[in-house]
Amino acid sequence: DGVALTPQQDLGDQDVETTLRPRKLSEFVGQARVREQLELVLHGALKRGEQPDHVLFSGPPGLGKTSLSMIMATELGASIRVTSGPALERPGDLAAMLSNLAEGDVLFIDEIHRIARPAEEMLYLAMEDYRVDIVVGKGPGATSIPLELAPFTLVGATTRSGALTGPLRDRFGFTAHMEFYSATELELVVRRSAGILGVDLRDDGATEIARRSRGTPRIANRLLRRVRDFAEVRADGVVDREVARAALAVYDVDEMGLDRLDRAVLAALVKSFHGGPVGVSTLAVAVGEEPSTVEEVCEPYLVRAGMIARTPRGRVATVAAWQHVGLTPPQHAPG
Ligand code: ATP
Repeated sequence: DGVALTPQQDLGDQDVETTLRPRKLSEFVGQARVREQLELVLHGALKRGEQPDHVLFSGPPGLGKTSLSMIMATELGASIRVTSGPALERPGDLAAMLSNLAEGDVLFIDEIHRIARPAEEMLYLAMEDYRVDIVVGKGPGATSIPLELAPFTLVGATTRSGALTGPLRDRFGFTAHMEFYSATELELVVRRSAGILGVDLRDDGATEIARRSRGTPRIANRLLRRVRDFAEVRADGVVDREVARAALAVYDVDEMGLDRLDRAVLAALVKSFHGGPVGVSTLAVAVGEEPSTVEEVCEPYLVRAGMIARTPRGRVATVAAWQHVGLTPPQHAPG
């Protein structure tokens, strides 16, 4: 099913993702720039004996934001507490979380752009002064009790840094932009995972899987597992190029690694809107998806792959997109 091949995490992934998660910075493939910047932030603070600045990771799903946060905690010799924006609906939930932190801990908030406003406001003071004000009672008799917190480092992850409010964004000392991985980097990811899972993966098999993983380690690992199933059931267990190609055909992953939603978006853009320009929400309605999914999950890779161009008037199909859909591009299509 195409759904299982989207970059978002699904429940079946959790155990195996834990197994395949890189534990140390040296095991973390790619993102050289982010790694270098992060190392300076962490080691600078460690050298001064200070608590490192709060860090924001932004980028599409499955690129390693959670993994990198856990590695950060390990590098700092600290514990990590994990929560998410949607889980912090009431400020009390956040206050409980914050007051349980030990000195030096890392607090990881996934999907931080989805945090409710009252909790977000509590976070401002916590990030700035390691303090929260707990409001007791209601109306004119309400009082606020200040509560000291242990110094901690907040790590936020978001697929939409643009959706963060200014005051929240300003309180992060460092924002790391995660990029899609190159095919060469994904080959390393797939080889490492094959080693852990005991899969007999040949060089040409690794290349084929990496090439079709949409620049995303989570997808690379997922494709590896699907190809392994195929190799064990329909072949002799060895994953080479031919086995990988046959398996990926069964799972409807195309030559470029685009999944069903990517292809639906391209087809709608080209066929229903004659290549655009069209707004992202109109496009989302045409494929029956949430605008946020099209914008945060689907579009970034299509832009990076040179299939969609963003213009002030909307999204436009490039020559490559027309060709991918199997149609002749019109004169005006961007290259
Ligand atoms: P989401 O925001 O959707 O939770 P994420 O960006 O936090 O995604 P992770 O959960 O960190 O992504 O990564 C998904 C999986 O991809 C990890 O379990 C790990 O197996 C693999 N992975 C991610 N980045 C790397 C990397 N740089 N090197 C090796 N494996 C990686």
